[in-house]
Amino acid sequence: MSDPDLAALRAVFQSVEDPFLLARLGDADVLAAVRVRGHGVDVVVRIPAGEHPAVDELRLRLTQAASAAGLPVAVDVVAEAMDAAESEALGARLQGLGRRAGGRGDKSSGASRVLAIASGKGGVGKSTVTVNLAVALAKAGHTVGLLDADVYGFSVPRMLGVTRAPVVLGPTILPPVAHGVRCVSMGFFVDENQAVAWRGPMLHKALEQFITEVYWGDPEFLLIDMPPGTGDVALSVAQHLPSSELYIVTTPQPAARRVALRAGVLARQVHLPIRGVIENMSWFTTPDGGRYELFGQGGGEALAEELGVDQLAQIPFDPAVRQGGDEGRPAATVDRESTVAKAFDDLARRVVALGPARIYRRELTIT
Ligand code: ADP
Repeated sequence: MSDPDLAALRAVFQSVEDPFLLARLGDADVLAAVRVRGHGVDVVVRIPAGEHPAVDELRLRLTQAASAAGLPVAVDVVAEAMDAAESEALGARLQGLGRRAGGRGDKSSGASRVLAIASGKGGVGKSTVTVNLAVALAKAGHTVGLLDADVYGFSVPRMLGVTRAPVVLGPTILPPVAHGVRCVSMGFFVDENQAVAWRGPMLHKALEQFITEVYWGDPEFLLIDMPPGTGDVALSVAQHLPSSELYIVTTPQPAARRVALRAGVLARQVHLPIRGVIENMSWFTTPDGGRYELFGQGGGEALAEELGVDQLAQIPFDPAVRQGGDEGRPAATVDRESTVAKAFDDLARRVVALGPARIYRRELTIT
């Protein structure tokens, strides 16, 4: 076998997108060297901290790119840790590439659909639905970010199985990825016990940072786990992401009027459109096929009617959902053929099919 053409390979590799940085190696300027090793090549990349979380995917992409360019070769990735100054410079470069969350009131910025998932009260499974919908969208091939803004309890990282903290690169926050979903929780940055005391200007500032400084990579969908009820967080989300769409999670209990009232207040307060209702814990099926409506029935449909939108899904009650949430393996990914996984896949399809909301809001004024 002849020696690989290292200069040509290097040129090919520069245009491969790094699955962790969401930038081409050349644009991020992290390709340190390409050198011969055995019958293949080592590709040396500089990375911000610790190990590269998607090194296998990067190796695959490099291998495919080399083959596609007519330079087939066995590729290995060698990740080298950056020092602080390099990290800072990388953060600034990524910031310059400008791939943040969409909307932001600035019409020229990205076109992410922002799905704000809300509920009238806690405990209805809002975080569970948010995480599983995010994972189902990612499974369907979409790029997805998830912002955990539920300041009353940051459950998203645990449910999604995020074990790494975000990497802070000077002005840029690089979120960890789990099950194909890029996730930032305000809980990463605050003591759980302090969080509820976090109101008004502090929350607003923190959210602004998450939206403008987190390198989301222009996801097609950015989901936001909203705190239940109305309030400061909702206003901040609406101000920073004015094209957000609201989705309301509820249980089958016949409390539609009250929930509708709250959802309506929320929507009016923030001038965001409600796009649909998701009913959770709709029924429980026993192994022998018996079906029990543990929490009553009709709540989702009634709420949807009150709000003048569609009920987009009924998610069954399934102990595997709770277990998956506790273990960081969302039910939507564990058993793809399960009723629950299919329900989330269907929900994802319906959300995609809805398309972006037509913006009807007037200019938001916060005084
Ligand atoms: P919320 O965000 O509305 O407060 P969570 O998503 O934290 O609610 O859910 C509350 C509890 O109910 C969690 O323990 C979760 O695992 C469980 N849960 C949610 N949805 C389901 C479901 N469809 N089947 C079984 N358990 C569920």
